[in-house]
Amino acid sequence: MRTKMVAGNWKMNKNLQEGVALATELKQAVKDPKCAVVIGTPFIHLATVAELLKGSPVKVAAENCADHEKGAYTGEVSAEMVKSTGAEYVILGHSERRQYYAETNEMLAEKVRLALQNGLKVIFCIGEVKEEREAGRQNEVVKAQLEGSVFGLSAEEWKQITLAYEPVWAIGTGLTATPAQAQEMHAYLRELVAKNYNPQIADDTTILYGGSCNEKNAAELFANPDVDGGLIGGASLVAEKFLAIIAAR
Ligand code: PEP
Repeated sequence: MRTKMVAGNWKMNKNLQEGVALATELKQAVKDPKCAVVIGTPFIHLATVAELLKGSPVKVAAENCADHEKGAYTGEVSAEMVKSTGAEYVILGHSERRQYYAETNEMLAEKVRLALQNGLKVIFCIGEVKEEREAGRQNEVVKAQLEGSVFGLSAEEWKQITLAYEPVWAIGTGLTATPAQAQEMHAYLRELVAKNYNPQIADDTTILYGGSCNEKNAAELFANPDVDGGLIGGASLVAEKFLAIIAAR
């Protein structure tokens, strides 16, 4: 049985004190979840929050890592540094990183390689923009993203990958993919994984949906057989909402 998961992505929200307060609330409330629970926090929170959540089922993710191992890259944070904080995951390929920081498939392939080499698990995001969806090109877009960054991994390495399908037009817009659109894409992604690896590996792959998923629509999205959980932005910033989404999984 593949892992079900609800992961939060705080993005560039919450100062350290606010982040600690939210993580403390989650620690107190999440004792025996029915799914894996991960929170993606800004770099500056990682060490403190990972320490605070020691022994809790809530795990910690970075929202990015560098595409270089170490050295003269002012302002960057390496995968090894992320790992040293106690974080277990890193979110890579988020559309905001692709769009605002020009992250390419090649750069992401390198980030994934370094993350895995340093013992991090990767939540790898893919998804099409509105114009691509309107042109019916969503399948070819996600296929190219997978082929460009992660389909070269070995079957063993692939075990550390969780996919997150995040249609860009649905992120932070209040427009959610319909449960049918999510299911259709997730089934397609699983088919691609089966072709690239094998059907068993595809069946074991966790595929999250992200894009305006909230406490009201989560249950309906998660009811689809190929939607294994969610990557949650805005609604992960409010404990009550994030907890309701975890309960829906
Ligand atoms: C995200 O950024 O990963 C995301 C899904 O954001 P939101 O839930 O706010 O749409």
